[in-house]
Amino acid sequence: MKLTLLGTGDAIGTPRINCDCPQCNHAKKNGATRLRTSLLIENEGKRILIDTSPDLRQQLLRTGSPHIDAVVWTHGHYDHFIGFGEFYRVQKIPPVFAAPSVLSYCSDLFHFLSFEKCAVDPYTSVELFGVTITPFIVTHPPAFTCGMLLETKKSRIGFTSDTNRNIPQKSLDLLTDLDLLLLDALVPSGISIAKHMNYPDACTLAQELAPKDYRCVHVSHHMPWDLPHLGTDGETFEFA
Ligand SMILES: [Zn+2]
Ligand SMILES: [Zn+2]
Ligand SMILES: [Zn+2]
Repeated sequence: MKLTLLGTGDAIGTPRINCDCPQCNHAKKNGATRLRTSLLIENEGKRILIDTSPDLRQQLLRTGSPHIDAVVWTHGHYDHFIGFGEFYRVQKIPPVFAAPSVLSYCSDLFHFLSFEKCAVDPYTSVELFGVTITPFIVTHPPAFTCGMLLETKKSRIGFTSDTNRNIPQKSLDLLTDLDLLLLDALVPSGISIAKHMNYPDACTLAQELAPKDYRCVHVSHHMPWDLPHLGTDGETFEFA
């Protein structure tokens, strides 16, 4: 399985429009980006997209215009599903897998597209192209939100880009023996946002769960570029 971080940014993205903060200036000067958070999973010659960000078109062009065979939605926030319309007239609209309430909320907006809708209850698994995907509930009020456990015979990856520290124990119990943990770190130390983790929250949780490696995603323009364990757009991970 190969995993690509298509984007590592928050809902606004970096550089932020109309911002001259040090991080945004660095981004504009060096061409660095934090596009909105989304993952590409490749296995058995097929491709699964976890979330369809507003940057989907640019993200797919950057990755060589792959055909997408399935989509998974984590929750019904703008920055995680609105790019789905970019499939219009580009490829067969892929089937979408999500928790029932997420699926109905997001699908309603795309009533002009015809596609297969596959509800997956949290803590139940669906197998797509050799990857077992299990949604687990996180805490991102007021939106009902799931993280995703992605498993193959040779790898276990945990992904949750939008949650605060109060992840239910039932979900934490799934996030053991991970090869890679991708987790929410919206803002740096000293800033608290009720529905997200900050950088120290993320690092503490990673230390508790003890994955082999971890990366912070859903990172805002408030975050310096040089902190350890920040994911970067286009970063790839291969699991033999
Ligand atoms: Zn988000
Ligand atoms: Zn900025
Ligand atoms: Zn969100």
